[in-house]
Amino acid sequence: MKITPLIGLEVHVELETKSKMFCGCPADHFGKAPNTQTCPVCLGLPGALPVPNQKAIESCIKIGLALNCSVNRLSKFDRKQYFYPDLPKGYQISQYDQPFCSVGFLNLDSGKKIGIERVHQEEDTGKLQHTVLNGEKVTLVDFNRSGVPLVEIVSMPDMTSSAEAKEYLKKIHEIIRAIGVSNADMEKGQMRLEPTVNVCIENETGIYYTPLVEIKNINSFNFAVQAIEFEIKRQVQEFEKSGIEKTATNKTTRGYDSVKKTTFLQRTKEEAKDYRYFPEPDIPPFIIEEDFVERIRKEIPLLPDQEIFSLEKLGVEKKDAKILISTQNRLAIQIVHDYSRDDRIDSKKLASLIVNGKLNPAQDVLVQYRNLTKIGITDTTQLTQIVQNIIDGNPSIVAEYKKGKTNVVGFFIGQAMKETKGAANPKTLSDVVTELLNR
Ligand SMILES: [Zn+2]
Repeated sequence: MKITPLIGLEVHVELETKSKMFCGCPADHFGKAPNTQTCPVCLGLPGALPVPNQKAIESCIKIGLALNCSVNRLSKFDRKQYFYPDLPKGYQISQYDQPFCSVGFLNLDSGKKIGIERVHQEEDTGKLQHTVLNGEKVTLVDFNRSGVPLVEIVSMPDMTSSAEAKEYLKKIHEIIRAIGVSNADMEKGQMRLEPTVNVCIENETGIYYTPLVEIKNINSFNFAVQAIEFEIKRQVQEFEKSGIEKTATNKTTRGYDSVKKTTFLQRTKEEAKDYRYFPEPDIPPFIIEEDFVERIRKEIPLLPDQEIFSLEKLGVEKKDAKILISTQNRLAIQIVHDYSRDDRIDSKKLASLIVNGKLNPAQDVLVQYRNLTKIGITDTTQLTQIVQNIIDGNPSIVAEYKKGKTNVVGFFIGQAMKETKGAANPKTLSDVVTELLNR
């Protein structure tokens, strides 16, 4: 029996714009007093009209371009109808069949291309808070988040392991941060993950696909990995028991319990037709001009993978380059590039010293580099051997030390330095001498 997991990912990113998607309320809602950042538009009051946020649309297109998508010349918003207490309008403004961006890809380090189906714009919902008030269990609703700009990035089900899914997510996270559209802070819910998982099972009787499962709202890479792995096992076991295969209508939605490390059934999945999508009548469609797209394209900096590649070309090791990029150590990256033209400095060594916290890129780089690269022998095993030989050859001087004449330490250090032709690291050597004399 051969088992191939098929994993797709939906990633929601909250954009860091000044105002919300369709009104002037501040978009920065984290930690604010409940319901202090609302207006008739984001409260869904009758007669209020949405006005799209251009900055948010630019950010959405920027994400699409960074993921190699094409920008659709004709685009529009749609209403997605569903009822939930944190959705005051009774629908969410999203994009259905004409998103801003479609069909792109992201490369994994292995060279494997993960397809991007679409990158579309929508708005966030409010937040429910379950609590106890005057001894009564209640649910409160805070609309500060209602209408905050969201971008949804939908991949193709091209990943076949949780490791690939994690790599994909990390890359998306780095790209979002690098292009400056969001900090994508997972703890603040600025990036939320929804893996879609099923399994292809090949055995002697044929090829079978297990029913599709979407796992909702995961807020850490590791939880995503655990949820996917649990789901793969569960689906294989389930198929062996029931033999139920994927159909057009048996997709389900599951939640993830991070304590038990299991997924649980939430509901049988709505299909697109259940949402009764229709074009948003209050917002006219968009015709996106080529020069608008080109202006956004020019604003995109070097992407993380391109930056890693440019550092590797200077001789920096990939693992060090990745750390410099992922920690967004702009100064360090600049320093490595600047000194790559200096013959006295080896870029590989310089990057490694910075990554390991030995060299501070904000201070005199050349002086630090010289001191750090002239460290000499720090191998204690090698130095111990040398010092032990000198001790064995000078029992009378050792005896003087034992009587309290501690300045003879200098004699042993001097002899060992002579022996190593000055190549021993003074600090390490001094430590070794003291330790051996005190034995
Ligand atoms: Zn508002």
